[in-house]
Amino acid sequence: MNQFPATKCVECGNIYGHRTAVCRECLSEQMDPHSISGHGTVYATTTIRVPGAEVEDDAPYEVCVIDVGTDETARVTARLTDRSDPDLGDDVQFVEERRGTFYFETHG
Ligand SMILES: [Zn+2]
Repeated sequence: MNQFPATKCVECGNIYGHRTAVCRECLSEQMDPHSISGHGTVYATTTIRVPGAEVEDDAPYEVCVIDVGTDETARVTARLTDRSDPDLGDDVQFVEERRGTFYFETHG
């Protein structure tokens, strides 16, 4: 199972899914890489029909908001590798980060 490459604030311990230079909670600039569980659940979905030029060939595609992690969690936007119509609450597993986009797969 892949770990999810989150970022953690050294000062207050807040966890971020997407890289950030400054903690939104305490404004600390001391952020460290911090792996958390790659297991997540689908919180919301939306379909992108007019994407940026770099992913033009993929449109339309689904983007999910995923709550990733178990003890420590982060909310991230991501794409799924194996399904185009995920349901809310579906279990997903982190696969990889590619060109700045997180990819998850569903189980079954
Ligand atoms: Zn902080």
